[in-house]
Amino acid sequence: MKRLWTALICAIVLAGLAITSAQQRPPISNVLLVTLDGLRWQELFGGLQANMLTKEAGGIGTAAPVGQRFGGTTPEERREKMMPFFWNVIATQGQVFGDPSRNSHARVTNGLLFSYPGYNEILSGFPDPRIDSNNKILNPNVTVLEWLNRRPGFDGRVAAFASWELLPWIVNAQRSGIHANGDGAPVAQPTTDRDRLLNDFAADLPPYWGTTRFDAPTGFGALEYLRTHRPRVMYVMLGETDEWAHGRRYDLYLDAALRNDRFIKRLWETAQELPEYRNRTALIVSTDHGRGDTTADWTSHGQKVPAAERIWIAVMGPGIPALGLRSGVTVTQSQIAATVAALLGEDYSGAQPKAALPLDLQR
Ligand SMILES: [Zn+2]
Repeated sequence: MKRLWTALICAIVLAGLAITSAQQRPPISNVLLVTLDGLRWQELFGGLQANMLTKEAGGIGTAAPVGQRFGGTTPEERREKMMPFFWNVIATQGQVFGDPSRNSHARVTNGLLFSYPGYNEILSGFPDPRIDSNNKILNPNVTVLEWLNRRPGFDGRVAAFASWELLPWIVNAQRSGIHANGDGAPVAQPTTDRDRLLNDFAADLPPYWGTTRFDAPTGFGALEYLRTHRPRVMYVMLGETDEWAHGRRYDLYLDAALRNDRFIKRLWETAQELPEYRNRTALIVSTDHGRGDTTADWTSHGQKVPAAERIWIAVMGPGIPALGLRSGVTVTQSQIAATVAALLGEDYSGAQPKAALPLDLQR
């Protein structure tokens, strides 16, 4: 009898351990990371800012329909008009960091507050004073993308798309071997009529900014790659929000955010249609820097615009509690890299001691 009890207790303990280990196995196999270059927290959380609707502040002509498209009486109403998927899906099913009205702070730590230092901080998990320009310098740091690409199960299954031609330098494509598409034809090896049409269409768009292409070919290239190559980690760096802001085109800046939101919705819904990704995929959305806080300097960012250190970060995925807008918590841009890895059950900050710890998504 005593032996039976011992066997029974052993069986219960073993069953308990099995359940615990099943619970601890990450429910996420894939991560999609999307950044919207220099989209301010002021618009993300508050939508259209009325003081920008002048020629002098926002470059808005009297006939521009921007007020009708994006206006509203509350911040909630305005931000939902600008980014409906972000607010109706990501913010309700996931978590959003950086709303100052909730004493939630998301900060850039590199002090330089412009693009390459920000992308390095996002992808490497730490600021690096050697990266102090937007020049085409191969990133000396092994980013979390490159690190994951060397991990078992991820080899050749990490990809990056960008509207900014610096992408291959930022992810050091030469060394990392990551598929990095930052300019030119969005489908690197076209095999179908659909691929060729997309490349022809992209080539017929105006090279309006030179070093940055429009976000549409970037997004469609990324969607095609997801469908055809099924990467486990895909990074998409969108660029128009920053370019229109530098050009003091507040109307097109808001419009770019709306189109970026539509892309994120497409990306998410495309993933949910594919068996490898359905209910196995997490999404992180953020930005490389903020911008000035006034009607004069909202167009700008950098060391002379300290308000640009404030950013925002959103995360959604299976097993991530739907805590919505996070309150009373301070996070940093440098936490994104280890968060990407941690969602996949990988310990990046353990392997790279300079990297910040993953975001605490369990509160
Ligand atoms: Zn930027």
